[in-house]
Amino acid sequence: MDKPTLDRIQLLHPKLREEAMQIYLEICDALKGKAMCRFTYTLRTFAEQDALFNAKPQVTKARGGQSYHNYGAAIDIVLIVDKDGDGKFETASWDVKSDFDGDGKSDWMEVVAIFKRYGWEWGGDWKFYDAPHFQKTLGYSIVQLQALHAKQITNKQWGYLAL
Ligand SMILES: [Zn+2]
Repeated sequence: MDKPTLDRIQLLHPKLREEAMQIYLEICDALKGKAMCRFTYTLRTFAEQDALFNAKPQVTKARGGQSYHNYGAAIDIVLIVDKDGDGKFETASWDVKSDFDGDGKSDWMEVVAIFKRYGWEWGGDWKFYDAPHFQKTLGYSIVQLQALHAKQITNKQWGYLAL
């Protein structure tokens, strides 16, 4: 298993951590070949989001507070690939078509299918195509989450919105 991914799962909203772990375990089971899945981003602070928004070239259309990442309710992925078979997963791949484990299904789409089975939305289905992105809304729109955040309705233990 991938240590950075395990650490990042712990940054998700408390209500999503267990499910994200289940999803990750299913992904590990499904990808049997040269590729592993890594969660590159989960929680992003408002400040981190603004920095990405202001980056050139622009990485995101969402400012701080406008992304489900800012509430610990989104996950970005990449496939990490051991091309030379030396046990080190040294190459990042965002290719949605590669079938690294040779089971006739693209590894990326295997991951998508697992997330969807748990009710997560996939950015690859959007008009603003965002293939690495998955989110689970917790039943709240971004506007509702921003309003809650403005009222500082936060969970004291975790610092996340108390939803
Ligand atoms: Zn994302």
